[in-house]
Amino acid sequence: MPYPYEAPASQSLFDRAAVVTPGGVNSPVRAFRAVGGTPRFMVSGTGPYLTDADGREYVDLVCSWGPMILGHSHPAVLEAVQAAVARGTSFGTPGEGEVELAEEIVGRVEPVEQVRLVSSGTEATMSAIRLARGFTGRAKVVKFAGCYHGHVDALLASAGSGVATFGLPDTPGVTGAQAGETLVLPYNDLDAVRAAFAAHPGEIACVITEASPGNMGVVPPAEGFNAGLKALCAENGALYVSDEVMTGFRVSRAGWYGLDGVAPDLMTFGKVMGGGFPAAAFGGRRDVMAHLAPAGPVYQAGTLSGNPVATAAGVAQLRQLDDAAYAKVDAASEAVRTLVAEALTKEGVAHTLQTAGNMFSVFFTTDGGPVTDYASAKEQEAFRYNAFFHSMLAQGVYLPPSAFESWFVSSAHDERAVERIAAALPAAARAAAEATEAGDN
Ligand SMILES: *Cc1c(COP(=O)(O)O)cnc(C)c1O
Repeated sequence: MPYPYEAPASQSLFDRAAVVTPGGVNSPVRAFRAVGGTPRFMVSGTGPYLTDADGREYVDLVCSWGPMILGHSHPAVLEAVQAAVARGTSFGTPGEGEVELAEEIVGRVEPVEQVRLVSSGTEATMSAIRLARGFTGRAKVVKFAGCYHGHVDALLASAGSGVATFGLPDTPGVTGAQAGETLVLPYNDLDAVRAAFAAHPGEIACVITEASPGNMGVVPPAEGFNAGLKALCAENGALYVSDEVMTGFRVSRAGWYGLDGVAPDLMTFGKVMGGGFPAAAFGGRRDVMAHLAPAGPVYQAGTLSGNPVATAAGVAQLRQLDDAAYAKVDAASEAVRTLVAEALTKEGVAHTLQTAGNMFSVFFTTDGGPVTDYASAKEQEAFRYNAFFHSMLAQGVYLPPSAFESWFVSSAHDERAVERIAAALPAAARAAAEATEAGDN
């Protein structure tokens, strides 16, 4: 038995799942293939804790990959959802909840003059790209290696997240025609962007970037990078599209825009804004959004877009997210980061801890230098992360099951939760120190 303990109830569910679902999961990284072992099937969550099918409790440092910024089962969100459900679950007509959620987004993020609600981050980026192409009449899209924008065909070239986790060179099923209009450039490299505009004059519809990438691990933009992108787009008649599906309403009231102040032409949102339900959005300049159906010719639609239960959850969550809530999330993030760095340093484990607002991740890099792009992110010794991950899991701390993902905390991560993390770290750091490439963890 290569892992510290067994999880029989999760294993039994995983066996059943594997019969009826490819790989036993509905989103690849959940399957634990990168770290090995049995994925934990969770049955409930409260505050900073999750409980699995075997009845074990974990401090959750994934927070559903970002959305649960208030912790699990927050009373205000639950109450809003229960009230919405009691009124009916879908009408296929406009409703007040959609207006409230749109007003909340427009009120927080200045560059967003109008917004369209969708059901997933993938839909948001896909629609934003279509709109950028429709608005400019151009075909090409620039993206950066290691940035993940959902599983949009045209954007799966050199993507982060699960694609990074599995090192997939590219994805079968995406045709040359679909990916052929995508230019993939190294992250944080403005010269490469300049060269792309020079090589394709009048052909680039937009540059899409994660506002601060969190899908190859946390790799923040270099000073001036986002401002440089915006300027190059403006000079060349292209749109600057900032993907804030992960950072939006997480790293500040106005997301990454609230921290760097660089105003995009279009932005995409998801995760936090849905309050744990499928709700996402894209929005931006009024003159660009005016091209969207039914106001304009670019078609986009969705049966469950603006769903009343999802919008109620999103509105309730955003209304809880005031300065005090962000201060709590930031403080929890700093406390965990400090403990992780101390534990690894004490065991002599070479690492780089990178931060973007309250998002962070640990790279087990051997040179200790900063990770600035996808190439440097891939240089880490991921086998050390896997040993670290399993030691933490065995001690009741749930980390992302991949070395290429951000860690997330919530405003519910209180002193008691942080103490449980602190108690688990020394053994996990030792496991990371002792890990070998062969993976005998
Ligand atoms: C999660 C994510 C997406 C995709 O969102 P889904 O809701 O999973 O489709 C897109 N962009 C970024 C930056 C993300 O982190």
